[in-house]
Parts: sequence; C-alpha cells; structure tokens
Amino acid sequence: MKNFTLDIDADGIALINWDMPGKSMNVIDEVVLEEMDDLIKKVACDEAIKGAVITSGKKAFGAGADLTFLQKMMGEYETVKAKDEQKAAQMLFDGAYRLNQSLRTIEAGDKPWVAAINGTALGGCFEITLACHARVMTDAESATVGLPEAKVGLLPGGGGTQRVSRLVNPQDAMQMLLQGKAHRPTKAKQLNLIHEVVPAADLIERSKQLIRDGLKAKAPWDEKGFKAPLNLWSPAGVQMMSAGNGLLRKETYGNYPNAINIMKCVYEGLQLPFDTALKVESRYFAHTLSTPEAKAMVRTLFVNMQELNKGARRPDVGANKVKKIGVIGAGFMGASIAYVSAKVGIDVVLIDRDQDAADKGKAWSEDTLDKAIKRKRSTEEKKAALLDHITTTTDYASLSDCDLIIEAVFEDKGIKKTVTEQTDAATSDNCIFASNTSTIPISELAKASKNAEKFIGIHFFSPVDKMMLVEIIMGDQTGDEALAMAIDYVLAIKKTPIVVNDTRGFYVNRCVMRYLNESWNMLVEGIPVPMIDNVAKAAGMPVGPLTLNDAVAIDLSQKVIKQTIADLGEDAIDPRHVKLVNMMVDDHGRIGKKAGKGFYDYPPKPAKAKLWPELKEMFPQQDAEDVSVQDIKDRFLYTIAMEAARTVEEGVVSDIREADVGAILGFGFAPYTGGPLSFIDKVGLAAFEKRAKELAKQYGDHFKPTKLISEMAKKGETFYGRFGEQLKSAA
Ligand code: NAD
Repeated sequence: MKNFTLDIDADGIALINWDMPGKSMNVIDEVVLEEMDDLIKKVACDEAIKGAVITSGKKAFGAGADLTFLQKMMGEYETVKAKDEQKAAQMLFDGAYRLNQSLRTIEAGDKPWVAAINGTALGGCFEITLACHARVMTDAESATVGLPEAKVGLLPGGGGTQRVSRLVNPQDAMQMLLQGKAHRPTKAKQLNLIHEVVPAADLIERSKQLIRDGLKAKAPWDEKGFKAPLNLWSPAGVQMMSAGNGLLRKETYGNYPNAINIMKCVYEGLQLPFDTALKVESRYFAHTLSTPEAKAMVRTLFVNMQELNKGARRPDVGANKVKKIGVIGAGFMGASIAYVSAKVGIDVVLIDRDQDAADKGKAWSEDTLDKAIKRKRSTEEKKAALLDHITTTTDYASLSDCDLIIEAVFEDKGIKKTVTEQTDAATSDNCIFASNTSTIPISELAKASKNAEKFIGIHFFSPVDKMMLVEIIMGDQTGDEALAMAIDYVLAIKKTPIVVNDTRGFYVNRCVMRYLNESWNMLVEGIPVPMIDNVAKAAGMPVGPLTLNDAVAIDLSQKVIKQTIADLGEDAIDPRHVKLVNMMVDDHGRIGKKAGKGFYDYPPKPAKAKLWPELKEMFPQQDAEDVSVQDIKDRFLYTIAMEAARTVEEGVVSDIREADVGAILGFGFAPYTGGPLSFIDKVGLAAFEKRAKELAKQYGDHFKPTKLISEMAKKGETFYGRFGEQLKSAA
C-alpha cells in the first residue's frame, strides 16, 4: 500500500498510519479512496483484528479532499453531460457517494474504530474521523478540526452535514457547515465533536485503551431511540430552520448553491434514517459539483490560490530566506508591515523621522498583541517574542545587513526619493528596495535608485494584518532577483502575492475605482440611494461601494482624482465625479468614516450607520419601481470585469489566475463568480459582449467592450481557454 501502513499489536488492535509519500499533507485522492476500502475490508475480515486506530504520520491529520481530483470529476461531468445528461448526473452521484459508502462501512461494521487526531483534521479528513466510533485529539494548540468546504463553494459530502448536525447544537453545527468555522481541541470537545483531548505523547495509547476497554462499535445515531440535538418538529426547531433560512438569504442573497444545499442536507437529512440521509447528502453534493459556482470557486480559491501560494510566478533564481528587513516610515502601514513580519520571526529595523515616531510604530504591535491577549488569542510570551524582533531607530546604518527594505513613508515623490537615496548610501548593491506606494508609478520612483533592477513595488492592503493579498509591482527595469525576493517575502508572511506590471492604480485599485465610479454615476443619476449599496451586496459584493468609499476615505478619492488630472489632464476624469467628490469633501467636510461622516453618518456605537439624508435631496430620486435591479447588479459586475479584461489586454496582468484571485482577496469581488475573468467566462464572451453593449448604450462608454473581448467573442473563446494553456506551459 502506498499511503498507509497497518500494524497489529499483541491485543489485536490495528494501528493504521496514513502518511502519503512526497506530500507535506495527507489529502483524499483516488488512490487513497481505493486503499482505504482495502483497509476497511482487512479490518472487517481479519479475525485477528479486534479494532482499529487510525492516525497520521504527518504533523497534521489531513487537509481534506484533493480538490484537483474533484476538479477532474467536474470536468468529466461536463464532457459526459454534453452527450447524456442523465448519465452525467449518475456518474457524479456515484463519485460523490463513494466516500460516504466507505465511511459508513467503518461506522456500521462490528469492530470499533478510533481516530487518533494528531493534528489539524479538515474537510474529508475530519469526516473520516467522524465516522469512527471515538475521536481522541492531541491538545496541541495549533490543531483544529473543521469542515471548510463551504468556503470554496462545496459542501461536506463525506457525511459531514449528517454527523455534525447529529452531534453538535444546531447553531454551532450550522456555523461549522455554512461558514467553515474550525475549532481548537478544547472547543471541539465542548461541542461534542470529539471525545477526549490528551497530550500528543499519549494519543495512540489512549486511543488503543478505549478499544481494550470495550468501546462499542456503534454510532449514537445507530442506537435505538437516538435523538438529534435539533428536533425539527419542536417550536425551537421550526424557529431555527425558518430563521436560519432568512439569515442565509440575508447573507448570501441566494448566490451560493452550496450554502442552500447544506441547509437542505440538514433539513431533509434529519428527518430520515441515517443511510438514506447519507444518500440525500451525496445527491446534494453531486448537484453542488455540477454548478458553475463550485467550479469557479474551486479553481480560483483553491487551485489558483494554492499555485500562487507556492510561488507560481517566482522566477527561477536562488531561494531567499528572508531573515531581516528594514521598514521605513512607521506610520499606519509601516507599523503593521513590521508587525506581520515580526510575527513570522523576521527581524525588522523600523525607521522613522524621529525616535518617537519609530517607537510609536512599534507600540502599535504592542497594542495589537495586548488586545489579542485579552481575547485569549495570544500570550505574554508570544508578545515578548514578537516585540523582540522589532528594533526602532532613525539611523539608516542599521539597515546595512537587511535582505529587503520596504518604504512606507508619505505618498510624496520627493520624500520617497530622499529615503531611497539615504537607503542606497547605507546598504549594499544587492539589497532589494521596495515601495509600498499606492499611486506613484514604480518606474518613476526607481529613477531615484542607484540600481533600478533591484527596485520593486510591494503594495499592501489595509488593514495589513487582516488582508491576505499583496500586489507586487514590476517597474520597467525591475529584475528577477527583486521579484524573487518580493515573492519569497510575501510567502514568508503567509500572504498571497500577485505580480502586475506598472500602471496607474496597478491592478486592484483600478478595479476598485471602477466600482466606486459606478456608484457615483448612480448617485448623480438619482438611483434611490439605499439601492446602491444594497443591490451591490445582492450582486455578491461583500461591502457596498458607498460604505467602501467611506472606509477608504473620500478625501483620498479626491487626492487620486486631483493627481490623475494633474498627470493626464481634465478629460481623464468624468466632471460629474469631480463635482460630487469636491462637494462631499470641500463643501461638507464629509471625508468618510474616519470623520464620522461621509455618504453615511456614523453615530457613536451601538447606533448604526445611516445614509446621509441630504443625498436624496441633492440628487432627485428616481422612482424605485422604475429602476432595474438587474441593471444595477450588472453595472457593478460588468464595469469591474471589463476593467480586469482591460488590464489583461494592456499586459498589466499577465497571468489570469492573478486577476481572479487578486479581485477576490483584494476587494471581495463576488466570490461565487470565481473572480472577474471567471465571471466573463461563465456569462460567455458573446453574451458578455452583447450585454456590455446594451449597458454602454444606456449608461456610458466605459461599458463598451474592449478589443480583446470582441475578438474573443467572435472566436468563441474563453479567458481560461485562451490563456489557460499558457499557464499550463509555464507550470
Ligand atoms: P502615514 O502618514 O500613516 O505614515 C507615514 C510615515 O512615514 C509617518 O510615520 C511619517 O513620520 C513617516 N515619514 C515621513 N517622511 C519620512 C522620512 N523622510 N523618513 C522616515 N519616515 C518618514 O501613511 P500611511 O497611510 O502609512 O502610508 C504610507 C505609504 O503607504 C504611502 O506611500 C501610501 O500611499 C501607502 N499605502 C497606504 C495605504 C493605506 O491604506 N493607508 C494602503 C496601501 C499603501
């Protein structure tokens, strides 16, 4: 057997050790499924075996199903469906039902199985343990158990929806299933997900002891008279399901078929005998796999993201172990860049204009950690260790042995030039210098450098400690070593890098500006103000554009507009936008959330933000009945998607995976679409072009299909069809 070993001890207890060769994590794939079936048969049929303990030889128990394997299933489904829809559906169901059948054989067999969960167990791997008669888990703090399938458009199809809803109180169960929330050992035990938490050293012995002590080979739901925590027919049950449905609708606007299917699995499954319930789950799992949403989400949020997180865009130059960096500018961004770096053990020299400012930057880390300690998310020891990695100074000489310098000083070309020159004087020719500028072209800033090849953009998003994306910007002369260092650093701080070429706004902000611009258009047109944010959310955006604009600050939008006009002339900006933004900032001081007033009023908590009532007066409101909700949804999604397509056409984005991943991680572009280019592919190029033309006619030239879109529509191409091949050959 390739992936498992089985050893029988003197008491007849089989220890099954899952340890996939050549992989850092165990995952469920075709071979694992086959080998598991053989193991299950062996345990059932070998009279010398009294029971089995399953554990893993890796640090974690297992990460879940190998989603590329599921991706293959989805692909085969599409091919067969083209000829025979029923056959395709049956094929998908058979594939989905396979794991359920295997696991049910463990559970319904007559020999006890114990899962010795030695580390994190997620998705299908956690479902394997749920089918065992007992679960013993290590007390290692870093270990978690959970079912994250919902996050990539799937559902837990290895019995997870049925077993969790029969083990855990309804509210926590639904949260686990719908939000993919994972739990640490103590909480998992409290929730009834696992039976015991023991020190790692005792894990196997304790698991075996349970079998020696006569652990019953029966799941609770196979016992007569079993009652699930949620009685659907009780008043609480009725309330839970109807409120749950409402909440689901409120949060997902019906955009996620997997979420709806999870609810159905629980609702229908709890009314059925367990074996039938598993079949129902497999049916919904198969249906989920057949949806374009699952296909797009798995591709972008799992496959593409994993590839980028493995450094797919890294040039083939020597690996860097980033040990020490310099951060210049200890303000809002610099302080948190220092924090996320020190958190992974990188030494940071934090520089500002004076010692007080530099110390204030370090104090931010201290405050953040104090808050985390209060919430039991960190400890005094961790805080001390992290702070030890940050040295504050005003002296550039301290940068001499840094691998990488990141500047996050004021957004001012002159100041950035001085800082670059000062750094150059203090560092070796090999030192890589990165700017965190959000608007100034990297090639422009690189002019101040003694070595433009070593100059690159590393653009963080705020809040740096929460945002998982970092945009790396290549200047005209940036070389491979700078790119490799930037990618190695971003991966070291556990974020996802995308690499784009130099352009105004780079990639993410170009798309975000389109989103904001469209909301400004709508305001001026008199679209009823509450519809703007609400319909954007219904289209799948996590935050409405007016709320987003308030959060990033309207005076920042004003600065961007002014700079663009200064660089490109008056025609570069719609005069209605200039008027609107100037009116908000100059006439009313409504600069955004930081001032407590922007498009919304922000009264002190707990009061909720409310739209600024005067907006309605300023822009005569259309009758809501006359406004097409579909048009609003399309305007938001199409304007962003068109901009993403433009960046591909202009060569700003050279890898389509990055456009999709970047848009979802950077500003939450409707995740169910799999990103803006996946969205265009799903609509179909011809249909997208047609609808864009309609929108252009009614709402403005910015919707006019680009040359590339029209060309692809004509040829019947898709983005992943046309550019996907390039990625395969690059891999
Ligand atoms: P900030 O004003 O909070 O911080 C700037 C810091 O730089 C201040 O502490 C200031 O004292 C220091 N500084 C100024 N001149 C200096 C010098 N000569 N030497 C050393 N330190 C100096 O600004 P911020 O919001 O942190 O932005 C910093 C950079 O990051 C800007 O280029 C900005 O465009 C970019 N950025 C900001 C955001 C954001 O959301 N704020 C997001 C992405 C990128």
